[in-house]
Amino acid sequence: MKLYFSAGQLAHQPKQYMVHGKLIHAFENNDRALALLDALAGAGLYPLEPVNHGLAPILSVHSDHYIDFLQTAHSEFMKLPNAGPEVLPNVHAYVGSSPSLVPRGKPRPTGIVGRSGWYVGDLSAVIMEGTWQSALVSAHTAISAAEAILGGDFAAFALCRPPGHHAYVDRASGFCFLNNAAIAAERLRSRYARVAVLDFDTHHGDGTQAIFYARDDVFFGSVHTDPSSYYPHYLGYADEKGAGKGTGYNLNRPLSFGADDAVFIDANRDIIGAALKFGAEAIVISAGWDAHHKDPLSKLNVTTDAYARIGALYGQIDLPTVIVQEGGYSLEAIAESVLSFTQAFRAAKGV
Ligand SMILES: [Zn+2]
Repeated sequence: MKLYFSAGQLAHQPKQYMVHGKLIHAFENNDRALALLDALAGAGLYPLEPVNHGLAPILSVHSDHYIDFLQTAHSEFMKLPNAGPEVLPNVHAYVGSSPSLVPRGKPRPTGIVGRSGWYVGDLSAVIMEGTWQSALVSAHTAISAAEAILGGDFAAFALCRPPGHHAYVDRASGFCFLNNAAIAAERLRSRYARVAVLDFDTHHGDGTQAIFYARDDVFFGSVHTDPSSYYPHYLGYADEKGAGKGTGYNLNRPLSFGADDAVFIDANRDIIGAALKFGAEAIVISAGWDAHHKDPLSKLNVTTDAYARIGALYGQIDLPTVIVQEGGYSLEAIAESVLSFTQAFRAAKGV
């Protein structure tokens, strides 16, 4: 199984992260990627440099005006009087339920403050000088893994950082700027009529859900912590089942605080079963390790053993599969979890 990663993904080094009204040190940091690389080397996986596939695969998911914003936001923001070191919006757009108020689409403000508040959904998605470069290379890491599948491989691992599943068509949030898993799924769609994105990060993959919500060619299934008092708060509920022709192709399995291995594994079994019933011909896994009980953000009671168990479940799916790295913030837990998952996945899949 090929592993993709580039040192270019390390240029994003934000200093600030606003939590509960306090600016703290950002913990979506480079050490995570280095710990994952180290752990995967223990499984005999060494990274290949991703290929630059240009902007076209990214623009198949994200709007062009959002990409323009990401490319220029930091340099424009730095021209503000008394600018801080990073883009952190101090306004947020109200997008009304009435289309006559503020319709979503291209923002009317041309100034950087108004545009930042439009495109940046929360104060974890901090934009500094190297953010665009890292997000771009992270996306190319996912695209390269999808290209490996299109080239005949049966599985590939994209060690994406920054992560992607909270990024919308035109919004950065939750440490995410470009939706790597969605971009990989779109690449796979060039060959496979039906693709499933299965997400077991402990946070609901709201960006991915939103991107594919009205689609009947991409199924989205997610196992995550109940969002009623947990990030991303506004999406991830069990009654969100898709819209229009996408109705029935979105499955959320929110888990109560304290859920243990058995519940977590069963929920993963459910989304895999639903993806197979949908008729998926290829799979993208959004893999986060932050359900682990040692993770500083976790509200669940999931152990390393559960990742080995679900690694076997995902490995037993007889379909080409791209694994895309999402969250996980305890260096100890992510190293154990990625190794346990990957070894079980490869053993079951024979890759
Ligand atoms: Zn997460």
